[in-house]
Amino acid sequence: MFENLSDRLGGVFDRLTKQGALSEDDVTAAMREVRVALLEADVSLPVARGFVKSVTAKATGSAVTKSVTPGQQVVKIVHDELIKVLQGEDAPEALRIDNPPAPILMVGLQGSGKTTTTAKLAKRLKDREKKRVLMASLDTNRPAAMEQLAILGQQIGVDTLPIVPGESAVQIAKRAKQQASLGGYDVYMLDTAGRLHIDQVLMDEVQAVRDIATPRETLLVVDGLTGQDAVNVATEFDGKVGVSGVVLTRMDGDGRGGAALSMRAVTGKPIRFVGLGEKMDALEGFDAQRIAGRILG
Ligand code: GDP
Repeated sequence: MFENLSDRLGGVFDRLTKQGALSEDDVTAAMREVRVALLEADVSLPVARGFVKSVTAKATGSAVTKSVTPGQQVVKIVHDELIKVLQGEDAPEALRIDNPPAPILMVGLQGSGKTTTTAKLAKRLKDREKKRVLMASLDTNRPAAMEQLAILGQQIGVDTLPIVPGESAVQIAKRAKQQASLGGYDVYMLDTAGRLHIDQVLMDEVQAVRDIATPRETLLVVDGLTGQDAVNVATEFDGKVGVSGVVLTRMDGDGRGGAALSMRAVTGKPIRFVGLGEKMDALEGFDAQRIAGRILG
């Protein structure tokens, strides 16, 4: 998922580690290349700048340049800084899904992978945490999307709220809440309608649903291939409905990785999961250490 960035950085750091002694100028020149590589990976400009500034400040001190293995120390500084930019100061805590039935609101644009991710996450909660999960589709404009969730539910052995034609999203949310309590579910997931673009009607609806469900987690699903656009979408959704975490989908594609690297720094929101394919098991918990490892090869 980070092939290009990984190759670019690999080239820079190979040269640095092979070089032996390093001057401050060598480090600064290498960081200039890192900055270009980050921008080509569609990392937002302030994030790329901040990253390079921070690494440069740490890597140009004499403790590094005069050490026996300066190149390796620079790589270690970059590694640690990548983790920081990916997850902020701390790894996020577990999802807040105690206190059953815990509502999880799934939001995002149409085509981002929201319905697929809802089912993948339900399966994960069922398999790994032994939770009883109820899923409900609120996409009243697209009966096919409601059907799709029901089919996925059957596939993975997770219940879906029966479809009642003619109900509004708010009515479905109320029924899901009631059914989750009466049915003894641990978690209920509301797969809200998406649109091609953010608009007021969509946001009003999501807000109304949010007010009914008072979700413990509001997870925004965004297409990881869209780089900085994904970050812009996250900023808008967060401003309008409040987001507690982000799921980046399509990270199995040849994305440039910019969304993953900018998301936390720009929006302040943690990435919770990454989607790595269409299959129901292709959802991975977001692990900044692992991602930093992948980026640095
Ligand atoms: P929604 O409109 O946001 O609900 O999007 P869907 O869940 O219907 O997904 C749209 C398409 O993206 C489907 O064909 C999914 O199989 C596919 N998709 C979703 N997540 C991923 C992912 O992580 N990787 C890949 N390669 N495809 C995905």
